[in-house]
Amino acid sequence: LTSEEQAVLDEIEEKDVDFLRLQFTDILGTVKNVAVPARQAEKAFTEGIYFDGSSIEGFVRIQESDMRLKPDPETFAVLPWRTDDQAAAGRMICDVINTSTGEPFEGDPRYVLKQAIDRANKMGYTVNAAPEPEFFLFEEDEDGYATTETADHGGYFDLAPKDLASDVRRDIIYGLENMGFEIEASHHEVAQGQHEINFEYDDALSTADNVGTFRTVVRAIAAQHDQHATFMPKPIPKINGSGMHTHISLMTEDGENAFHDESDEFDLSDTAHSFLAGILEHAPAITAVTNPTVNSYKRLVPGYEAPVYVAWSDRNRSALIRKPAARIPAASRIEARFPDPSCNPYLALAALITAGLEGIEKDLDAPDPVRENIYEFDEEKREEYGIETLPSNLGEAVDALEEDEVILDGLGPHISEKFVEAKTQEFEEYLVDVSQWEIDRYLETY
Ligand code: GLU
Ligand code: MG
Ligand code: MG
Repeated sequence: LTSEEQAVLDEIEEKDVDFLRLQFTDILGTVKNVAVPARQAEKAFTEGIYFDGSSIEGFVRIQESDMRLKPDPETFAVLPWRTDDQAAAGRMICDVINTSTGEPFEGDPRYVLKQAIDRANKMGYTVNAAPEPEFFLFEEDEDGYATTETADHGGYFDLAPKDLASDVRRDIIYGLENMGFEIEASHHEVAQGQHEINFEYDDALSTADNVGTFRTVVRAIAAQHDQHATFMPKPIPKINGSGMHTHISLMTEDGENAFHDESDEFDLSDTAHSFLAGILEHAPAITAVTNPTVNSYKRLVPGYEAPVYVAWSDRNRSALIRKPAARIPAASRIEARFPDPSCNPYLALAALITAGLEGIEKDLDAPDPVRENIYEFDEEKREEYGIETLPSNLGEAVDALEEDEVILDGLGPHISEKFVEAKTQEFEEYLVDVSQWEIDRYLETY
């Protein structure tokens, strides 16, 4: 055992942990668990835990279904939502190993992100990332099912008593802190019932791990308060949806921020400009990954602080990428504003990093920033500025992905194929459905 693995065993002993949840995510970003008695922890480290991968979305066919979980000791944490009289449970996030080859399984999203990070390392960089996941809190009905009735009627940065949900948010924050999160800030978002909790940036892999944990903790603790937390991007029409803005920067081997250059008007180095240009260039294909549901595209419409147009800005929030103000050089970064919290965080970061590194390798130039509110531009003005529009639905986004060799390559053949297949099917199902809107509009008119 490594010293980190031994430390986990000690902690299990000390905190009287009875059960261990070994976690990984499927292609859609859903966290999956295999629970084992904690006394199997040592075996999990030395031999791995075997499971049948054929029942996991986007994994494998029956004939090659034996998979092994290899827990990452650095991700050990005790789950915060057990009450005192129940046994404590711990979790570890795992890599998935293909048992027939002994190699990492290429359908594991965590592996795909590791590959993208590896590419950055080979170019001399490490990648830092911080997400800003937004979510809604809804009331449950008498039977415990989620409604779309918001749990409060507060607005941006509102305080109690209007922000009734602040109790829930406080408990969520305690839960996250118990699991080792550094919480930077939390606030009521613009829409009623909408919240945001920001946690500290970390290396890209830890950040992706953290997003999965964050979603799990938020939902579990909201449920303890009989509320339903949802990361669905646009649960209510005509008010803001939920984004997951993603801040990214690269560090050099000697710990300098490779995105910072104080001689630049925007404080951004050539490296940062090229990285940003790479994301702009591949934005339509990336969208399929960062905005992977039918509902994602109901958020990406003008007027709700979500991006619609492919442009960057150092000022306004209608752009796809924003350069946030940075107080210190180490904080120079870019903020991709299009991702939403329904994405698979591993694949989303992999796609963004792949596009950015491609931009650096090709030495792409970023266009000029757009400082006006792009929502107010008409088509002519957008053409004059050379501003493209994001895909307007999941089908268009998947088409763009299928044509983008760079992003497909970044995801690897296994995930690319399964992802396109799953998302094509999802979109086709949606197309043939008859919605409530249609019933309301047409049933009595025709
Ligand atoms: N909720 C907005 C979105 O859909 C973002 C609001 C903000 O700037 O935090 O992206
Ligand atoms: Mg926000
Ligand atoms: Mg933001």
